[in-house]
Order: sequence, then structure tokens, then C-alpha cells
Amino acid sequence: MNSSRQQTKQPDALVADVLPPLKLAHPFTYQLPGEQEVHEGAFVRVPLGPRQEIGVVWSVRKRRADDPARLKPIAEVFDFPPMPTWRRRFIEWVADYYVATPGLVLKLFLGSRDALRTPKTRTGWRAVMTPDEAAVAGHRMTEQRRRVLALALERPLPAAELAERAGVSRSVVQGLADAGLLTPEPLPAEEEWPAWPGDMAATRPALTPEQERAAAALARRVEEGGFSVSLLDGVTGSGKTEVYFEAMAAALARGNQVLLLLPEIALTGGFIRRVAARFGVTPAEWHSDVGPAQRARVFRGVAEGRVRVVVAARSGLFLPWRNLGLVVVDEEHESAYKQESGVPYQGRDTAVMLGRQANVPVILASATPSLESLVNAERGRYHHVRLTERFGPARLPDITLIDLKKERPEPRSWISPPLTQAATETLSRGEQVLFFLNRRGYAPLTICRACGHRLQCPHCATWMVQHRALAGAGEMLLCHHCGHAMPLPSICPECGAQERLAPVGPGVERLAEEAARRWPDARIIALSSDLLQGAALKKAMADIAEGACDIIVGTQLVAKGHHFPNLTLVGVIDADLALETADPRAGERTWQLLAQVSGRAGRGARPGRALIQTHLPEVPLMRALAACDREAFIVQEKAARRAAGMPPYGRLAAIIVSGRDEEAVRAFCMDMARARPASRLVLALGPAPAPIERLRGRWRWRFLLKGPRNADLQGYIRAWLRPLRPPASVTLEIDIDPYNFL
Ligand code: ADP
Ligand code: ZN
Repeated sequence: MNSSRQQTKQPDALVADVLPPLKLAHPFTYQLPGEQEVHEGAFVRVPLGPRQEIGVVWSVRKRRADDPARLKPIAEVFDFPPMPTWRRRFIEWVADYYVATPGLVLKLFLGSRDALRTPKTRTGWRAVMTPDEAAVAGHRMTEQRRRVLALALERPLPAAELAERAGVSRSVVQGLADAGLLTPEPLPAEEEWPAWPGDMAATRPALTPEQERAAAALARRVEEGGFSVSLLDGVTGSGKTEVYFEAMAAALARGNQVLLLLPEIALTGGFIRRVAARFGVTPAEWHSDVGPAQRARVFRGVAEGRVRVVVAARSGLFLPWRNLGLVVVDEEHESAYKQESGVPYQGRDTAVMLGRQANVPVILASATPSLESLVNAERGRYHHVRLTERFGPARLPDITLIDLKKERPEPRSWISPPLTQAATETLSRGEQVLFFLNRRGYAPLTICRACGHRLQCPHCATWMVQHRALAGAGEMLLCHHCGHAMPLPSICPECGAQERLAPVGPGVERLAEEAARRWPDARIIALSSDLLQGAALKKAMADIAEGACDIIVGTQLVAKGHHFPNLTLVGVIDADLALETADPRAGERTWQLLAQVSGRAGRGARPGRALIQTHLPEVPLMRALAACDREAFIVQEKAARRAAGMPPYGRLAAIIVSGRDEEAVRAFCMDMARARPASRLVLALGPAPAPIERLRGRWRWRFLLKGPRNADLQGYIRAWLRPLRPPASVTLEIDIDPYNFL
């Protein structure tokens, strides 16, 4: 009866090593269940201590002498396609590269646990006669009953859906079923995925010769099959999307699946519409805002190969691909691809690794490629595919710098006289203006006019940001790092002065106020992630594209991806903001952001221009920007990075030590510093208090590791940390290829 006892007697018996999605280093060994066959990669349920956990069978092997004498059996094998070997190797690679445990990485790959269970079959209800016929037959027919019957005439629907769509309670549906007017019919367990056309040529747009060449180069990579990376490097509005759609068409024609990655959820809606318009089929959507039922449906559909195209945020990398044929990473330069919590992975880099493991082509698309990708193209590791012209009559905007030292805005305003004049002209022609300021809220700082006290977050070493336009909140202070919120006090907490707390500097809300003062007749919309989200944001974007407003005041939310045909003037309020950080990529980021936001202008028939306000018009970056001379900027940036040994010429990693007990954090950092291994290649700098020294109540210190490209930073970190035992109150975070230096 008890198979476990039998197995312990058989030295040749097979056992399974199962990896649970937990922060544990290694798989656990289990006995195979008696009756069912278990394949490597199978999703299973196993007992783990007092609990049950989901896991993946990492290997099935012969029992060894050092295995525990008694093994628990696997409790359940899910009826779900097993994880192929390449995906298990992919998990191991991510774990190894980012110095995380495989269990924690596996967690990323279990985007829907519900999907592992076969969905229950559903019952639909179909009307057996029309409402009029029912009335003639002597049934009592209310308006509500009529609506239900009319809906259920066309096709059977689940009771809940029927009630919802008819706007009635479930009891009305039940009453009709009891009266025999609705009859049950089995429904497929889930809504089916649409089929993709075999021939995608019918809906193909006519491409320009330059686009045609680029599309052919990308489609060739797909047809050749195998791993490759192409950098699709094309100016804003050159039709990169149309061009990589051709590579997608090639992959779809071969029966393969396509992953299209975007850096932000706000962009997915527009891309889903564009894919649907090009191919006539709506793709699946995958990101953190997708609800659990839909997640399960997508996850299963991808595993079974029925979902052919997924438009996704970076977590789409970890879907259970059945026959992936192409990975596209749009806006590849975006730092939003970097995950900052849990396993801090770089989505673009991990996409390249996905392509390598799955042995499929990868396309990285951008108007402002990352220096990393440009250097890879230069070294011949990536194919470089370029688009140099905007599509149609659209031309690239003229960029002009405004020297804020000479052209000073009036007190408590931020739009300089030349920008004001340009905006007035643009508005008078009935065209749209975008004022770009990468700062949420009303004012970044609130200061006491009596004593100079600045309002700081009680949990973080940061200033509280003043907000005025958040729904129903009135004047309030918000910490952008921990979310701590409080009403704006009327008394200074330091000196007690009444009504002397004043906002300093602008955020988008305050800038919108200035715009309303200057152009009282203009329709103005302020856009930032905390003012509009989800469906409201998608609608606002669509409204803007249709010309429903004259002035857009926005953060980086509006800087990329969107297509506003009537927008012809972009005014950058403060180009120097991103330069003031300790980030080695500060110059590159500023370049990308300013080039992208300038590129919002003149995408339609009328020419566009960008006016950029800066205190630093003489620095090479600004000069190159005004001259539209990307090459000049890149040459200079590469030289600076090479001289400093910074990526892509050198490698970086960070270790962040944090805890609520300041002394414990400091003391452990000192222990770490003493235990620092000697190395010829790796330089471990620090410890130093982080620029944000306190975050969410935790004190933070940093080490920065630096080495040449061939340095094994991960090996160094493992050797360093292995003998160390941080106290329970202290947390270590390892950040390989860091993008955040705060
Ligand atoms: P990018 O991604 O390079 O910024 P898009 O692919 O968004 O550029 O193209 C910009 C605009 O031009 C879009 O509205 C797109 O539909 C249109 N467009 C580009 N190429 C073509 C083409 N060959 N035929 C029709 N419309 C095109
Ligand atoms: Zn805070």
C-alpha cells in the first residue's frame, strides 16, 4: 500500500528534484507519485513543511545514497504543458547572472497560478422562444424578462453574464430557467482565442523604399531562424513600428508566436490597436493591470500555442512560450525596462537572453538607442538597421536652445519670453503645444518663509512634494519615494509661524496654472502618472490625438510612443533636471529624453519645432542636440565612458545594505568592508551612505563594484558574501548593472 516504503528499498527507484518558487537556493527531492508519469519540467504540487507549494520538476533521476531515507511523494501533477529544458536553463541563467536564487526567479515565471488548473466547464443558457412567443404561450413577460430572453436568443450565455448584460438580478434569469424558457447548454471553458490569418499581405501598408529595405532585413532574420539581434535604429516617426510589423508577419506566417515588449503599461493600449489594425486580429495583453481571470487565460493560451501575439510589459519575458519565433523590444533604451525590486533584472538584456535560449531573433527598436546597444552594433554583435527619414511629409523638428541665464522668466513663472511668444503663435494657428516638465505635483519643495525650514518626509531623506490637483485631496504633501501623504500644514512645524509655508519651484500642476494664466482661452490638460491612469489616461491620449485640447502640460508620460498629429511645438521647461544626478548615464538619459520629447512635434503634415530651456547651452550635449548631431554626442559620450571605465566599456554592480537600525547597518557595512576579497580586476568602492540615506524608514548604505568587461563581478560578490551573516535587521540587495544610484 505505502509506496514510499517500497521505494526506499529500491536503490534504482526514480526521484524528482522539484524547485518551488521561494527564496530557497535549491530544489527539494520527492518521490514520484505512484500512478502518474512525471516528466522533467512538469508543474506539480508538493508538500513543503506544513504547507503545499507549487513547483517545477527540475530533474528526474535515480535515487542516490545521500538522499534522505524517507521522501514525501509529489501530491499532484498539473495538466499543464511542462516547462521545456531551454526555459529551465533560462531561469538558471537569470538566477546566476543576477545573483538571485533559482526559486525566486521561478516565481517570476509563475505569472498565473490559476492557469495551472484546467478551467471548469461553464453552462450557458439559451432562450427557447422569443419574448412575444413566450407572452402568447401565457408566460408572464416583464421588461426585465424580455431583455434576458432577447439576449439569450442569439447564443447561450453564462447566467452571471446574462444577468449583467440585461441589467437584471440573477433571480430573473433563474425564474426564466425555472419556467423552462431558458435551457442549459455546455459552453467551452474559456472564450476562444481568435485565429490569425495565414496571409498577412492583404493588410500590408505600402512601405517607402527605405522602410522596405529595413523590413526585408528584419524578415530575413526571422526566415533564417536562430538567434540574432537587430538594432532597429530610426528617427522618431520613421515608421519603425510598421517595419517591425513585417518581421512579426514573417514569424506569424511560420506559425510562430511573437512577444512585443513595451516599457510602460500606458503604451500597451495604443499598440494593441495598431497590431489589430495591421493584422485584423486583437493580440493578447500582459502586464500587472491585467486581472486574474484574463491572466490565466493568456498564460494558458501562450502555453498551448493558441495565443500568437502578446503585447506585454517586461514580465512577458517569462510567459510559458510554446513556439516563440520573435521578440521585439520597443523603446529599447528606456530605463523603465529595469526592474528595481525582487530580482532586479534589466528587461532588454533579459530579452536578448530569452532570444538566445529560445534560439530566435530579437529586434531592439529605438529612435535613441542605448549606448550599450550602439556599441554592440559597432562591434558587429548586433545587425544595425537604420531609418533616417520621417514617413510622409513629416520632417524632424527644428531644435533651438533658450539660454535661461539671458532669457529669464518672470518671477514665479517658468515659461521664458521666447517660448511664450512661440506658443502664442502656434496656438493662433490652431496647432497644439506641449510643455514638458519631468516633475509630478505642484511644487517639488515647500519652505517656511519665516525660518527657511524645508518640509521633509518623516520616513525618507527626501523633500515632500506639494500636490494640489489629486482627486479630492486639496493641498497636500506627498513623498514620491514612500508614498507618505499629509495635508499641507498651516503652521511651520519648526518655528510655528502661521501661513508662511510657500511652494518653491514648479511641477506640472503649477506649470499648468501658469499656462492657464497666460492663455486663458486655451483648453489645457495636465498629464502625469498620478493625475491620470488606466482607462482615463488612454482616453486622454486619444482625445489629445483628435485635437480635444490646445496645451498639454506633461511629464515623461507624454514623451514617448504617442502620436499627436496636430502637435507642432514642444517647449522643454528645464532640460538640466536629469543632469543633476550622480548617475553615470545622466548625459545619455538627458539626450534620449530631450530627443524623444522633441520628436513629438511635427509628426503630422505641419512642421514642428522644439524650444529647450537650459542653463547650460554651452555643454556639448546641448550643442549636439540643437545641431541634431547625434554622432557628435555619441562620440563624446563614448569617450567619457571609456575614460571612466563605465558601461558599456566596464561593468558595474551595487550592493545596498539597509535596515531600520542605523547603527546595525553601519556596523555590518564595516564588517563587509573588512571582508572585501582582494582582486586584480574588481574594485569594490564604499561603503558610503546612499544619496537617499533613509528610505521608508530604512537607513541605506551602498557599495559600488567596478571592473573591466571581463571581470566576474558575480563571482566576486558570491565569494565576498558567502562567509558573511548579516544580522536579522539588515537586508542586502544586489543590483547587477544598476540603473539607479540613489
Ligand atoms: P516610429 O515608431 O518610428 O516613431 P511609427 O511606426 O509610429 O514611427 O510611424 C509614424 C506614423 O507614420 C504612424 O502614424 C504610422 O502609421 C505612419 N506610417 C509610417 N510608415 C507608414 C507607411 N509606410 N504607410 C502608412 N503609414 C505609415
Ligand atoms: Zn518618504
